[in-house]
Amino acid sequence: MPQNLAKLAKQKGIKYFLISFADLFGTARAKLVPAAAIDDMQKQGAGFAGFATWLDMTPAHPDMFAVPDADSLIQLPWKPEVGWLAADLWMDGKPVAASPRVMLKEQLKRAAKRNWRPMSGVECEYFLVNNDGTAIADTRDTQEKPCYDQSALMRRYDVITEICDAMLQLGWNPYQNDHEDANGQFEMNWDYADLLTTADRHLFFKFMVKSIAEQHGLRATFMPKPFVNLTGNGCHCHLSVWDKSGTRNLFAGKDENGLSPVSYQFLGGVLHSATALCAWFNPTVNSYKRINAPRTISGATWAPTSVTYSGNNRTHLVRIPDAGRFEFRLMDGAANPYLMQAGLLACGLDGVENKRDPGKRLDINMYTEGHKVKAKSLPLNLLDALREMEKSNVLNNAFGKDTIASYTKLRTSEWNDYCRHLTNWERERTLDC
Ligand SMILES: [Mg+2]
Repeated sequence: MPQNLAKLAKQKGIKYFLISFADLFGTARAKLVPAAAIDDMQKQGAGFAGFATWLDMTPAHPDMFAVPDADSLIQLPWKPEVGWLAADLWMDGKPVAASPRVMLKEQLKRAAKRNWRPMSGVECEYFLVNNDGTAIADTRDTQEKPCYDQSALMRRYDVITEICDAMLQLGWNPYQNDHEDANGQFEMNWDYADLLTTADRHLFFKFMVKSIAEQHGLRATFMPKPFVNLTGNGCHCHLSVWDKSGTRNLFAGKDENGLSPVSYQFLGGVLHSATALCAWFNPTVNSYKRINAPRTISGATWAPTSVTYSGNNRTHLVRIPDAGRFEFRLMDGAANPYLMQAGLLACGLDGVENKRDPGKRLDINMYTEGHKVKAKSLPLNLLDALREMEKSNVLNNAFGKDTIASYTKLRTSEWNDYCRHLTNWERERTLDC
C-alpha cells in the first residue's frame, strides 16, 4: 500500500505538494496542490492539458492525469513546507505510453522478468553563469586548466554546500563536490540507486540546483555546450545490473576487466544502438557542439567522438572505471533523466537477448589516435541522430513505433525551427557569394 499523503503532510508539516512530471523533452511540469486537496489527487491525479507540454498530443485530447508516486516524495530542503512528487501520466484510464516515466517503468518490467535489478548513478555537470547566461558568474575563474581549482570551488562554498547539505538531509549519500574542467563548471556526486530512483533524483537535482543557485543570485545551467571554447556539460551514467535481492552484481566477473559475459552482451547492445540513442542522450541542437567538438581551452572535450569502449580511459564512449560496471559518457546535461535510463536498459536488454558482441576494448587515446581505427562515428547533428532513431528496430520494438514517432516528430519540428534561423556566420560566409 502506498503511503497516505494527507497523513504524511500532517506529520511532516507539508502545506503544498508539487505533483511533477517530465515531458518528452525532459521539462519538469507541475501543479502546486494544497495538502487539504491531496487525498483526491493521490487517487485521481492532477489534471493537465497534454498539448500544452512536449508530448505528442493535440488540444482535442482529453484531460491527462499526473498520478503521484508517494514513494518518490521529497520535502524541498530549501522550502520544507512543499513536498515534491514524481508522477506517472494517465489518460482514458491507461498509462500514457509515450511519456518518459512510464517508458522507463516498462523497461524495468522487462528487466524484472529476468530477475534483474539494474542500478545506476549519474554525474550531472553544470555551470554557474550570470543572469542572461552569456558568461560564467565568477570573473576570477580564468585558469587554463581550472579542473579541481580549490579557490574557485571555495568561492562557491555557500551555494555548493547548501546543495550538498540538502542531499545529505535527503539521504542520497553525496560524497564529493568539485570544480570541473571548464571555468565556472561544477559537479556533485551522490550514491547510485535503482534506475527509477536515480531518474527521479536526477530530475529533482536539476530543479534543486537551479532553485538554490537562484537564491544565491546565480543561474545554474545544464546546457550541453554553453561556451564554445570550454568543456561542455556531460551527464555520465554508471550502470551495473544486480540480482533481484540486490546482493550479487551480475556484471562482475573474473576477466581482465573484472566483467562477466552478460555485461559484455549488455554493452554490445548499447554500442549497437548508440547512434540512435544520441537522439535521447544528446537531444538538442546544442548537444552536437559538445560531442565531435574540437579541443577546448583546457586541452580536451572529455566527450566521445566515436562508438568505442576502453578500460580506465576517458577518451571513449564507454569507460570501464572499475570491476563490475560501465561508465557511459555520451549523455549530456539536456538528456531526459527517464529516457536516459530507459534507453540504456532497453538497448542493454537487446544486447543480451541477441548476444551482441562489443568486440575487444580499445586501448588508445581516441582524441589523438582515433583516426587509426575503424569505428562508427557519432551523428554530427540532431537531425542525423533523429534519423538513426527512426530507423532503429531495437528502439522501435522496445518502445513501440508510435512512441518513437512521437518523439522524433516533436524534435524534428524543433530542428526545422532552428534551420529557419539566419546566423551571422551565414552572412559572413555568404554575403559576397
Ligand atoms: Mg565530470
